Amino acid sequence: MSTVLERSAAFASRARELTPGGVHSNVRLSAPSIFFERGEGAWLYDVDGRDYVDYLLGQGPNFLGHAPARVNDAVAAEARRGSVFGANHVLENEAGELFLDTVGWAERVRFGVTGTESDQAALRLARAATGRTKFVRFAGTYHGWLDNVLMTMVDGKPAPGSAGQLPHGIAESYVLAFNDAAALEATLAEHDDIAAVIVEPVMFNNGAIPPAEGFLAEVRRLCDAHGVVLIFDEVITGFRVALGGAAERFGVRPDLAVYGKAMAGGWPVSALAGSAELMDLFAGGVVHAGTFNGSVPACAAVIASLRALREDPPYERLEAYGASLMRSIVEIGGDHGLPLRAQGLPMAFHVSFGDPAPVRDYAGLAGLDLDRYAAFSHTLADHGVWVAGRGIWYVSAAHADKELAATLERFAAAAAQAG
Ligand code: PLP
Repeated sequence: MSTVLERSAAFASRARELTPGGVHSNVRLSAPSIFFERGEGAWLYDVDGRDYVDYLLGQGPNFLGHAPARVNDAVAAEARRGSVFGANHVLENEAGELFLDTVGWAERVRFGVTGTESDQAALRLARAATGRTKFVRFAGTYHGWLDNVLMTMVDGKPAPGSAGQLPHGIAESYVLAFNDAAALEATLAEHDDIAAVIVEPVMFNNGAIPPAEGFLAEVRRLCDAHGVVLIFDEVITGFRVALGGAAERFGVRPDLAVYGKAMAGGWPVSALAGSAELMDLFAGGVVHAGTFNGSVPACAAVIASLRALREDPPYERLEAYGASLMRSIVEIGGDHGLPLRAQGLPMAFHVSFGDPAPVRDYAGLAGLDLDRYAAFSHTLADHGVWVAGRGIWYVSAAHADKELAATLERFAAAAAQAG
């Protein structure tokens, strides 16, 4: 930060004495040390009295904007019943019915708290159903921070993403390039120990890379041909790229899908959904548990959020807003001699510096100047636009004309400073 925000600086210095790195998630280590007092709609307000148009949205969950009254009022009202009973409660069926009806293709759902754990439940279920142990995933996707999925690429080869990670965790998966159906075909033909293919249908975690035309359908076909369980990790795409998520938008039905983020108006809820045949294995020997799964506040948040999305679907507005924003970012960059580029779907896209040609896979990101963008994200924060240093921009249902105008003015000021 070039601007000194005194109260934030004091909070940050105390935080470093209380928690490692001053943050409660490593993903936040490289963010500007700004402490927020509150969020409302598309806006964040810091302790030094500054406001920010927010495109981080808490890493995606605030799809309805911050503090959506309908959701928060429902959570507050229902929480008067209590929170967790370690037993069934009356909101579970309504949340389950609404969830399955909204997703459209699945027959059963299990609620959880984080995407990380629901991804693990999906992989375990696939192993149980097939009697096989390994899975295929794609370089650059993120499926949580646990030992068998946290991964980075070093010299084109998969490597553990953290010190202290069990090295054999990485060996549980075959790692292929996103959008490379031929590599998947060859891998499935060569190995008979593959239980599942897990894929972010749009690779939002690195580059917001959309699936190439026909890629997901080909993945579906190959999984069927080899008796492999297809898992869509819809933690980002779910309820965001369409009401029915990526399965609806791309017209491909997975066997299992994991949801999180946008499904509960900012509250911590995840879900694993799928066919009855697979999911009912949880009632027959496959263990999935969690003290807080399907809590009263979680179900209240899911019900209120999904009702809001169904009654007033924001998707057309999000497409228009995001498309206009993507175009303007590139144009403003051009005005100031900055080679800014944007790719993805309008409701969530990736901004960086580099060649505007679309990137198709993780290796393609090496040609972009991601570090320059990470530095620019701090300049944007100085000017009142809050974004992830990794380049992803999320648009919410609360972003409208006022927010677009403020963003473009602030973005231009940041670009002028950086140019
Ligand atoms: N899967 C995807 C695609 C994600 O983007 C994330 C988180 O960003 C996860 C899984 C893990 O979810 P959580 O952070 O809720 O554990």
